[in-house]
Amino acid sequence: MSNDVRELVAASSRILAQAGHDDLIWGHSSARDPGGRGVWIKSAEWGLDEVTAERVHLVSPEGKVLDGSGVAHSEYPIHTEIMAARPDVGGVVHTHPPHAVALAAAGQPLRPVSHAANYFVPPEVPAFTETADLVLTPALGRSVARTLGDARAVFLVNHGIVAVGPTLQQATVAAVLLERACAQQLLTAAAGGEPSWSPPEESLSKREHIYHDRAVSAVWDHLVRRLPGAGER
Ligand SMILES: [Zn+2]
Repeated sequence: MSNDVRELVAASSRILAQAGHDDLIWGHSSARDPGGRGVWIKSAEWGLDEVTAERVHLVSPEGKVLDGSGVAHSEYPIHTEIMAARPDVGGVVHTHPPHAVALAAAGQPLRPVSHAANYFVPPEVPAFTETADLVLTPALGRSVARTLGDARAVFLVNHGIVAVGPTLQQATVAAVLLERACAQQLLTAAAGGEPSWSPPEESLSKREHIYHDRAVSAVWDHLVRRLPGAGER
């Protein structure tokens, strides 16, 4: 079992790297431990693209490595406190994707100018502005969880993003969609003119038509197939 969850976190990490979320050795994604002991997450000091099952370990809500080796990421409270606050969440992604960071730093709310943002909007994607520094304590982690509320993602302004889902597969797809949506919006703004976007009713109907569970699951499978070396396994 622990092998499956390790493989899952490794695949999520490598997918995020390939989807433009890599930031040297920073950024991480996690899956809830089915036994309730904490989160399975990559160990620190590796790039997302370098994560293998052996580089994934189990971290407790107190930040202790309970299973596996390596150094725990200092921002583990993002994962453990969101999981504590949101029993519906089984996967959390925290990364520093450049387009999402740029859009949030510019103070622009995410607008559904293409398909991708409809996965999130409405409601408006919340923005965490208490600090742009690292989320190093359980108290700050709880604060991020409060800002996230019931949403699928939150901008950590001048820092990065957090995306969540019932499973790590869904959280990973959410993170990939969020960065694509932000890139599309920046491209739209750069084109000038008078940008348009979907009104809320259309966004909700697009969400149902495009991003239903079966499609999101197929997107995950597609992202796994696109990983380097996927055909050789
Ligand atoms: Zn961070």
